[in-house]
Amino acid sequence: MAGVTWVYDFSEGSKDQKDLLGGKGANLAEMTNLGLPVPPGFTITTDACRHYLEHGGTPPELGDQVSEHLTALEKAMGKTLGDPADPLLVSVRSGAAASMPGMMETVLNVGLNDDSVQGLAGQSGSERFAWDSYRRLIQMFGKTVQGIDGELFDDALDAVKEEQGTESDLDLDADHLRDVVDRFRAIVREHTGRDFPQDPREQMDLAINAVFDSWNSERAILYRRRERIPGDAGTAVNVVAMVFGNLGMDSGTGVAFTRDPGSGEQGVYGDYLQNAQGEDVVAGIRNTVPLPDLESIDKGAYDELMGIMSRLESHYRDLCDIEFTVERNKLWMLQTRVGKRTAGAAFRIATQLVDEGLIDMDEAVRRVTGDQLAQLMFPRFVSGGDAQQLTQGMNASPGAAVGKAVFSSEEAVRWADRGEKVVLVRRETNPDDLSGMIAAEGVLTSRGGKTSHAAVVARGMGKTCVCGAEELQVDTKAKRFTAPDGTVVEEGDVVSIDGSTGKVWLGEVPVEPSSVVRYFEGELDPESGDADDLVRSVHRILTHADQVRRLDVRTNADTPADSARARRFGARGIGLCRTEHMFLGDRRQLVEKLILADGDDERQAALDALEPLQKQDFLEIFEAMDGLPVTVRLLDPPLHEFLPDLTELSVRVAVAEERGEPDEGNLRLLAAVRGMHESNPMLGLRGVRLGLVVPGLFAMQVRAIAEAACERKRAGGDPRPEIMIPLVGAVQELEAIREEAERVLAEVCEECGIDVRPLIGTMIEVPRAALTAGEIAEHAEFFSFGTNDLTQMTWGFSRDDVEAAFFHQYLDKGIFGISPFESLDRDGVGRLVRIGAESGRAARPDLKLGVCGEHGGDPDSVHFFHEVGLDYVSCSPFRVPVARLEAGRAALGAERAGS
Ligand code: ADP
Ligand code: MG
Ligand code: MG
Repeated sequence: MAGVTWVYDFSEGSKDQKDLLGGKGANLAEMTNLGLPVPPGFTITTDACRHYLEHGGTPPELGDQVSEHLTALEKAMGKTLGDPADPLLVSVRSGAAASMPGMMETVLNVGLNDDSVQGLAGQSGSERFAWDSYRRLIQMFGKTVQGIDGELFDDALDAVKEEQGTESDLDLDADHLRDVVDRFRAIVREHTGRDFPQDPREQMDLAINAVFDSWNSERAILYRRRERIPGDAGTAVNVVAMVFGNLGMDSGTGVAFTRDPGSGEQGVYGDYLQNAQGEDVVAGIRNTVPLPDLESIDKGAYDELMGIMSRLESHYRDLCDIEFTVERNKLWMLQTRVGKRTAGAAFRIATQLVDEGLIDMDEAVRRVTGDQLAQLMFPRFVSGGDAQQLTQGMNASPGAAVGKAVFSSEEAVRWADRGEKVVLVRRETNPDDLSGMIAAEGVLTSRGGKTSHAAVVARGMGKTCVCGAEELQVDTKAKRFTAPDGTVVEEGDVVSIDGSTGKVWLGEVPVEPSSVVRYFEGELDPESGDADDLVRSVHRILTHADQVRRLDVRTNADTPADSARARRFGARGIGLCRTEHMFLGDRRQLVEKLILADGDDERQAALDALEPLQKQDFLEIFEAMDGLPVTVRLLDPPLHEFLPDLTELSVRVAVAEERGEPDEGNLRLLAAVRGMHESNPMLGLRGVRLGLVVPGLFAMQVRAIAEAACERKRAGGDPRPEIMIPLVGAVQELEAIREEAERVLAEVCEECGIDVRPLIGTMIEVPRAALTAGEIAEHAEFFSFGTNDLTQMTWGFSRDDVEAAFFHQYLDKGIFGISPFESLDRDGVGRLVRIGAESGRAARPDLKLGVCGEHGGDPDSVHFFHEVGLDYVSCSPFRVPVARLEAGRAALGAERAGS
């Protein structure tokens, strides 16, 4: 590894080097090069972390390279690390390529020891400040580097506060803080068997390794799995000269957003805390003030910050999220990144930036994702109702969550595991609450602002959150909270929380469709005054996605109502109209007759009775989809699904015999059910096999389709049926059915005097069909990839059996990152799709290609279908807008997961 550069100065990097320098390091470098006031420092690369994790140690050259950069930093600052007279102090900060807020560790004030704390006091003229900084170092170092339970330090600090009769750390003076340091040192000694390390360089090196190790902390692993961040990327480490917000009331620390990450509203937005350091702002130790108040506290720093924020926003052309510190009226920038935001804010900000001339519409489409759009389609609470409003907190992350109150993450996980919906109620959350936040429907806290841990993490996950509901007395030990009117909510009581308004109710509040859904339904005109900014943004972005996309979007719908809704949502036809549900209900008897038919005449009579009913089904669907293609799949499931259950029927027969009144009909039925029993129905008599084995069945369906089409035409309509044969594995199967279908079509045309010529095609859902697609295409005018069955058959998984049984273990073991039923397995199933598409097109260049599995509405899979060159995707009505957007994003070369 000779010659490898493991360490870069901030002046050497740029924002495009996230993979190497991590997001934090890359952006610190970018700000440095923009000439912004960033304390100097350097970044140890993610390569070094990967080396450390792979080999269990740092690369041999790392020590020397760090020394070189440290010397340069010391020269720039005119101080030496840990110098007893005038110490340079540094922070050692984690920062991975993908933002993982609060997941990994940072240690501040590295370089302080029993001697240099005196030097710091002398140089700053504040004993209190020096001891405050030292106690913070021991606390963070003890917890993060030495693995000591952080609560021990919290408890010791609380004890000193209590002795002084105060709740605020500001009331502690230098002597009290020296006492705190003594107690902290004792904790370290007790738990590590040695004194707190005094050698500044040793402190720094240990902190660097601890940052590397924190990559594999439990919560970091959990977070990555949820956010689908690769587990082997590693984190960079940033070593930054300390600046101090805890030097007195003319100092402080804050966080800011260039726009509201909750709603997308423009304006000054953030929290500030005087005389504080680092995490104090988000940890909720004292109440922060809203950022605009900084103007009256320190006008100079405020004005400079505003200037920098607007500069950063135009530079990054996006919402930025900022950490800063004021040290004795001097502003320092400590971090920036393109900020996480709610789904609604993402849409609004994208169009705002277009209007401000910072990005174009193509980029606006790239900036939002199908998952975000899906979130905007969730129902909202109906206002009013019977439920009792308990309080209103801050609207930290939108959505409507209803669940039973639980007061710890462990309970949240336990209750959710047994299928309960829960709302996690805490005073404030910390990184250890991640598993509980994931398990809960929503999160409610009584402390902390919109930049608190709960708010930031919930927004990132798209989870509903109300924070800072200060009127609530939350008692996590007693598992209850008390509302201002005295109402007590115990564990297990149902509460409703609204992350868009911050309202909290006792009991279950009913929900109504979101404004975005009302827009899709055509109930809200985006140009009218009734529409809000969000609806207008969604409308503009989807309109543009429609203009740029190449993929068509159809829907999977079997009823006129679903067809009509999907059409309103933008579907251009039906890609899959299943016919099986049309054989249920009253029609079961006819199916029974068909199955039990004794001879051709009885069978034909049963089919003749079914045909007009079936025709009626199609008439209404063709009408709802007038002028657009409707792909009707002929009957697919095994026939015994329409027969009574074997056990139930056996009991009925046995009981009748016992009574001495045997029922002939039931006896025959039982024999049929027994005869048709399959031990593996998924691989049994179904699909095209049924069509070949049950005479007249498919012919009846084809006739119903053709007659319905003729009738629609006669009524002046424009029906466009397409006939789809399921489960074909060999071209011979298709040929035989096709011949029969063409004969029936010719008959109907002749009878009606109207020409209907539906396309005839097949599903590609058996691996053999994909592999022999060239031959099959000779007899098919279209292919529709049935990726649900294709996934089952390619993996040899029976979905109903395996998903609940062991998929979570497969996910835990990393065998796949996401279920192949949720997102198409590109390498395996996708390979078959590609082979099918390419060989099909080679045989028949105008072959129409689509997909009708659930993957048609999955963002990631839509990008794949675009790449493979399909003509359309088909998905459930509610996913249609998502597919439209993702098809547009795919055409624009957007990243699949979005930014
Ligand atoms: P995170 O990724 O969890 O935000 P950071 O590395 O940003 O962790 O650091 C934690 C806190 O410490 C932040 O508030 C940050 O602004 C502050 N901080 C980091 N480095 C310094 C420094 N050199 N001087 C002052 N404050 C710092
Ligand atoms: Mg930070
Ligand atoms: Mg199928």
